[in-house]
Parts: sequence; structure tokens; C-alpha cells
Amino acid sequence: MAIEYIPLGDTNRIGASAHYLRLDDWGILLDAGLDPGDQGEAAIPDYERIQDQPVNAIIISHAHLDHLGSLPVAIRYFPHARVYMTPATAALSEVLLFHYIRVRQRQAAEEKVKLSPLFSASEVENILFLFQSFDYNFPFKIHGFQESQIEIRFWDAGHILGSAGVEINYRGRKIFYTGNTKSSAQFIMKGAKYPASGVCPGSHPGGYDAATPPDSTE
Ligand SMILES: [Zn+2]
Repeated sequence: MAIEYIPLGDTNRIGASAHYLRLDDWGILLDAGLDPGDQGEAAIPDYERIQDQPVNAIIISHAHLDHLGSLPVAIRYFPHARVYMTPATAALSEVLLFHYIRVRQRQAAEEKVKLSPLFSASEVENILFLFQSFDYNFPFKIHGFQESQIEIRFWDAGHILGSAGVEINYRGRKIFYTGNTKSSAQFIMKGAKYPASGVCPGSHPGGYDAATPPDSTE
């Protein structure tokens, strides 16, 4: 079994979050973020780095721009990928992507600068039908032209509505991807509900690996 992990964005601060996971002949893009503090190409992850790799699936952990904002660009690179997220993330993603375009256009008008959004409204409209949503604790298999042996299960990350920790099961190996996690309860959100063991960077109890370390980000 060949497993490869390639980070494509900035993993240490709020930036463009995007991670590539190769499992034998299958490829998964985990998050497709946009760096809110950067402009143009500098704001998006380095998708060219995996241009020649298979990308069968794109999984969005939650609807914040730094995890979602370059999804239309990612689909330009990987038009055959299926896009998976929770139902709440799908609903929020639609709102957020259109909102991003409006904010950019307003900024451009107010500051009288040429500040074009990285994607158009019609591009967003065209990708919405690609979203496939699954609830927490509802395992599903990734599909390409045929069904894969990669099973995905979303866990409640407790960060924002619909946010998910992503459990990836492949031929007896388990990998857990955490986008942003809030383990303690907030005023309107319960804390994260992750597997009882194994979500820990650098350790493998219960057979889990961590694609990115759990963190508590507001
Ligand atoms: Zn977030």
C-alpha cells in the first residue's frame, strides 16, 4: 500500500488550507482554502504541485474561506473530482462563495483598484451541483468511475455549523483529518465529538494517523 501526503497551503497559521492525500491510485484533496490576507495567485494553494496526480475527491471540512474559498479554482484544475461535505457545509458554502465575490467587488469599487475575484458567480453556480453531502456518522465510499475502497466518515468538529473531522478508512488503515476543532462547548455549539482514541499527531493508537494536528481555532 502506498500512502503519500503533500501539504499545499500554509498549515501553521490562518492561510489557504489544502492537503493532498494519495492512497495507491486514488487521490483526495482535503480542503480548498483561500488566504484571506493575500491577493490573487498568492492567496490560493499550490494546486500545480499535484496537477499530474489523480484527484478523485475534494472534501471540505467546513465553510470558512481559509478552508473553502478556492474550491472553484480547485475544480478548474480537477474537473472530474467529486466534492464531499456535510449538508450544513454545503448550504453555507453557497452563501459564503457568493458573499466573497460581492465583498471583492465592493472593495474594488471603494478603493478604485483592479481587484477581481478569483472566480466568477457563474463559476460558483456551475459547481454547486457537484456537492455531495453526508451527515455526521454516516460512512460513505468515495466514487470515481467506479467505487473505491476508501470509506469516509464525518465527525462533529464543534467549530462552526457543519464543521467536520474527517475519518478516512482504507484497507485497514485509518487517517483522521482535522480542519479546525473546538473541543469545548461554545454558546451555540456543542464541543467536538471525535473517536474516543487515536486523534493525536505523531501517535497511532487505534491505528489512526493525523494528517494535520488537532487545533482549537476560533
Ligand atoms: Zn474555521
